[in-house]
Amino acid sequence: MIKSLLDLKMDMMTGACRSVLPSGYWHHPEDSVDSPCHMTFDDGPFPETTPKLLQILNEHNVKATFFFTGSNVEQFPELVKMTREHGHQIGNHTYKHLPPLFIPKGLFEKEVDATSLLIKNACGEAPTVFRPPYGLIDFDKASTLTERALTCVYWGPVAEDWNDVGVSEVVRRIVRQTRSGSVIVLHESRRNSRQCLKSTEEILKWSVAKGLKFDHIRPEKTRPTFKSDLTQPA
Ligand SMILES: [Zn+2]
Repeated sequence: MIKSLLDLKMDMMTGACRSVLPSGYWHHPEDSVDSPCHMTFDDGPFPETTPKLLQILNEHNVKATFFFTGSNVEQFPELVKMTREHGHQIGNHTYKHLPPLFIPKGLFEKEVDATSLLIKNACGEAPTVFRPPYGLIDFDKASTLTERALTCVYWGPVAEDWNDVGVSEVVRRIVRQTRSGSVIVLHESRRNSRQCLKSTEEILKWSVAKGLKFDHIRPEKTRPTFKSDLTQPA
């Protein structure tokens, strides 16, 4: 398959980041072809997307991971409870979605702790996984996560779906990059709720037809990042 310039840019960025960021959870190409994929949704919860996503995931019998922001958890705690009751994993995505690279460590710690507490109060369980807003984190902030037994989860197939790129383009980008063990990243958004829901539906239909399996993220599978781990999307 000939890659477009955009596809090439995304693959190169992922490869470059993967070789310099602190240890965390990525797709590991040496895992078996039966390794489960991980469906992840960032930035929620929102009334426009979360309940419908739960319904779509349920129809396909897929358990996903939702990285919620503390400010949204505070606004919609019942959606957090509902998500957990449906058997999905809930992760910490900071309180205000500030970029970890550019804020002081003390503020980062407050963002993480406030969010973990809000999630625990909403659903009874504190999160064990964390995704940095904008994907990047430095070693100093990563130590904050380690101290709190939070595993940093990076990204696999992405579609820049935080922009209004259209359902068919989101699906094309994700499908192009996805294989066994992929960490698929989609975004909940009030503005682009239709794109989020329709794309999820299409991606799950394709995945099921392809025989891919899905599971929660298991932090114990985290390994140091090596250059040899660089993804070569099919
Ligand atoms: Zn985000």
